[in-house]
Amino acid sequence: MSSRRKLYTRAIEILRRQLRPLPRILHELRPTPPPCRVSLLRSLLIDDSQCFHRLFPFSRCTVRLWSPYSTWSGNGVACACWNCSEQSPAVGPFLSCGSCGAVQPVDLSVDYFQIFGLEQGFDLKDDNLEGKYKEWQKKLHPDLVHSKSEKEKTYAVEQSARVIDAYRTLSKPLSRALYLLQLAGIFVDEEKTVMDPELLSEMMDVREAVEEASDPKALMEIQHQIQRKLKDWSNSFREAFNKRDFDCAISATQKMRYYERAIEEIVKKL
Ligand SMILES: [Zn+2]
Repeated sequence: MSSRRKLYTRAIEILRRQLRPLPRILHELRPTPPPCRVSLLRSLLIDDSQCFHRLFPFSRCTVRLWSPYSTWSGNGVACACWNCSEQSPAVGPFLSCGSCGAVQPVDLSVDYFQIFGLEQGFDLKDDNLEGKYKEWQKKLHPDLVHSKSEKEKTYAVEQSARVIDAYRTLSKPLSRALYLLQLAGIFVDEEKTVMDPELLSEMMDVREAVEEASDPKALMEIQHQIQRKLKDWSNSFREAFNKRDFDCAISATQKMRYYERAIEEIVKKL
């Protein structure tokens, strides 16, 4: 096994052990008898400081609790590069050193929005998420530090994996919505199936229509219809979440899940 692969495997093992499971997308539209129950597990709020210190006891950074508008050193808590001791920038996350380029250890108190310099919220006020993601990968990709120390290689594997996760999570409405709920301390149990007869009936109709669609044009028409519904429910989520009406916000994510899944099915056929 190559050293890079060993590092990658090790990092994944650590993350699996230490991090809470992220919400999983339900991959089946099949209704099941038990009604959907949503768990509000506010106790699952990340204890960032404990988790962080378990993962990275060697870090010199002082961990601070999450704040949507603060920067890395916004609380006056500076962090220095482990390699050259350069201070972290006044604005933005400190994933790699601006002076020597060294990849820094993961800081779990920096959320996915902060990684991309975004204000926390359902609407991303920047349409260049992909561009920012690519910029980070140019600085953090493990291939770029293959000649560096084992410590920095480990940091690169972890930082790169986290940036990939952040990008994937924020780039889709449903995963972004679930992540916002997670940051608010609400875990949506996606294993539970929605018992909404109207929605389930609609999904069965969609499935039939997709199966019977004879050409790409017909499929795209169905896709546009579903995308409109997904957008409507995304708007419902935004409104509910902004009002801190979490029951309605969770309900909206359940609808979004079905519509996203339907779109994925259509894309597979296109
Ligand atoms: Zn440095």
